Amino acid sequence: MAKPLVAVVGRPNVGKSTLFNAIVNKRISIVEDIPGVTRDRIYFDAEWLNREFTMIDTGGIEFITDNSHVIPKMMRLQAELAIEEADVILFVVDGKQGIVPADEEVANILRASGKPVVLVVNKIDSVNQEPNIYEFYNLGLGDPIGISAKNLMNLGDLLDDTVKHFPPVGTNVDDEDTIHVAVIGRPNVGKSSLTNALLGQDRVIVSDVAGTTRDSIDTYWTQKKKKFVL
Ligand code: GDP
Ligand code: MG
Repeated sequence: MAKPLVAVVGRPNVGKSTLFNAIVNKRISIVEDIPGVTRDRIYFDAEWLNREFTMIDTGGIEFITDNSHVIPKMMRLQAELAIEEADVILFVVDGKQGIVPADEEVANILRASGKPVVLVVNKIDSVNQEPNIYEFYNLGLGDPIGISAKNLMNLGDLLDDTVKHFPPVGTNVDDEDTIHVAVIGRPNVGKSSLTNALLGQDRVIVSDVAGTTRDSIDTYWTQKKKKFVL
C-alpha cells in the first residue's frame, strides 16, 4: 500500500498554498518535493507523528483564471479528483469570508462520498476570531477546526486530526523494494488457489462458485528476504 494521500481542496484564495508552506516550515520532514504543473507546490511527502504521507494541493491544478463562473466547476473537478485519489481530504474554507455557495456545493459532494474530510477554517488569526468557525457546522462535515496558516496557529491539531483518519499502521508495510504481483484471469481458473499455494495458507477464499473473491485482496508476504504484495 502506498503512503496515505492527503488532498487539499478549496476555493482560490482561501489559503491552501499558505497552508502547504506553513506545514513545510513547521517541519514535518519533507522527504521529497515533486515539481508540479504550476508555480505552486503540488505534491510533497511529509511525516507527522511518525506517519509518512503525501499531500496534494488540488488547487495547484487549477487553470489560472479570474472568471468566477468557472470556479464552481473547477472546484467540483478538484473534489472529484480528491475523492478518487485521497485517503483524507482537507477541505479549506475562509473564516474571514464565511460560507459561500461554492463551499456548500463542494461540501455536498464530499459528504456524499463518505471519504474522511477534515473541515479546515483558515484565517482564524487570533483567539477572538474563533467564533467564526461555528457557522461552518452548517456544511454538515463535522467539527470545523480553526487555523491560521499565516500565523502558524493550530497546525499541530490539524495534523493530529488528519493522521487519525489514516489506515492503521501495519497496513502500510510497503516500501520501494516491495514487488507487486497482480493475479488476474477469468473467474474459476484458479487464481485464489494459486495465491493460497504461493502463500502456503488459506488466506483467500476459494470456492467453486465463480466470482467468490469479490475484491482485490492485498496480501503481504516475504520470501527469500524479498517483500511481495500479491
Ligand atoms: P490559495 O489560492 O488557496 O492557495 O490561497 P493562498 O495561500 O495563495 O492565500 C490567499 C491569500 O490569503 C493570500 O493573500 C494569503 O496571504 C492570505 N492568507 C492565507 N492564509 C491566511 C491566514 O491564515 N490568515 C490571513 N489573514 N490571511 C491568510
Ligand atoms: Mg494556491
